[in-house]
Amino acid sequence: MSTATIIDGKVIANDLREEIAQKVAARKEAGQRVPGLAAVLVGEDPASEVYVRMKRKACEKAGIASFGHTLPADATQEDVEGLVKKLNADPEVHGILVQLPLPDHIDEEAVLNAIDITKDVDGFHPLNIGRLAQKGREPLFLPATPAGVIYLLEKSNTQLEGANAVVLGRSNIVGMPVALLLIERNATVTVCHSRTKDLDAVCRAADVLVAAVGRAEMVKKDWVKPGATVIDVGTHRIDDDTEKGYHLTGDVAYDEVSEVAGAITPSPGGVGPMTIAMLLNNTLRAAEIADGN
Ligand code: NAP
Repeated sequence: MSTATIIDGKVIANDLREEIAQKVAARKEAGQRVPGLAAVLVGEDPASEVYVRMKRKACEKAGIASFGHTLPADATQEDVEGLVKKLNADPEVHGILVQLPLPDHIDEEAVLNAIDITKDVDGFHPLNIGRLAQKGREPLFLPATPAGVIYLLEKSNTQLEGANAVVLGRSNIVGMPVALLLIERNATVTVCHSRTKDLDAVCRAADVLVAAVGRAEMVKKDWVKPGATVIDVGTHRIDDDTEKGYHLTGDVAYDEVSEVAGAITPSPGGVGPMTIAMLLNNTLRAAEIADGN
């Protein structure tokens, strides 16, 4: 039987999106520029097209202007960087989002480097990540998914200061920035990866466990300390014989883990909805930065 408090990412994200929409409306009323987000898509990756469409729709709902730029799969490095530079100079564009992954022949790091740091709403510019890793330095923007994880922890009143936090995964886009953010909030952090020994025992020591491992339902009930808070970043599509033909699940075996955890996010319906909400929040912040605030 599930005894854990469910941290409902859908509700928390909707509240935040409503707050953002109100702030955008207030800007319009005050005669300030409408925040604008430009999405750059290179090639025709169907998953990337879906993500970009979802982000543009969410912008429209919040009153944020969205500009889509699609380049062909054979676009050159100069084409992509040239577009980024054009967007850097456009006053209607406050945030630039380059949908990853880029085609193999494009140097991703050089493209991310080309984004004006004040428009880096994905938070992947090396300067923003570098500031995140340094004590007392403030990045202008936090990467959306890690920021969403922290937002859920704070909204659910999870004690972070002094807590033992374990992050399962060390990727640039999720695990590592989550770990840095938890350290900044005074948790004692262990980062696990594919070479970690006794993974289950390490996880069992966690007061706060963040799973970003990319393995469906890997975190089991006996990996979790009773009463711990578990945040599941994983998203997996599993084929089945239902009418739909598949179901979605996370990195955590939700049904069994929710019998021991104190609080848990479902997946879907946990971190996923937060990612877009944080991107909108970053775009609003970018417009404020452009105003000199
Ligand atoms: P990733 O780049 O594949 O990184 C996975 C990490 O897990 C790596 O650090 C890897 O270790 C570690 N790992 C893999 N297998 C392991 C094992 N058997 N034991 C221990 N560690 C292992 O994945 P990601 O991009 O961070 O994404 C993680 C998950 O989050 C995925 O399910 C992804 O779909 C999901 N995600 C969700 C959102 C959202 O908005 N909700 C956003 C981004 C990602 P090594 O470093 O040693 O290889």
